[in-house]
Amino acid sequence: MKLNVTHNFTLMVNGHGNINSYLHRFKISDTPSCLCGTQDQMTDHLLFECELLQKERNDLTTTILKTDMWPTSKPEQIKKHFKAFLKFTNAILIDKLTNPKPNGDSLTINTKC
Ligand SMILES: [Zn+2]
Repeated sequence: MKLNVTHNFTLMVNGHGNINSYLHRFKISDTPSCLCGTQDQMTDHLLFECELLQKERNDLTTTILKTDMWPTSKPEQIKKHFKAFLKFTNAILIDKLTNPKPNGDSLTINTKC
């Protein structure tokens, strides 16, 4: 099976990429908080809780609930519901969810997938 993993997929699996909790560690973002204002922007927050991703998460949970329970752990989602998980990660407009410092427009970091 050929796996077409994307940048967003890698980001959601290992947390390395353009999310505030990661950018903040490298002082690229002023805050580790998510734009929704409730928590630090970690991958689990985006996957399970963030209200800004409710619509995208609905598609994921609907698919998973056909054959499984929700919430299902991230490793289980990747193992048993790979397509749905990949679709979710690709639906996230991650650039709209982060707030790199406003004093430049080339601050996004380039991580190799
Ligand atoms: Zn959030």
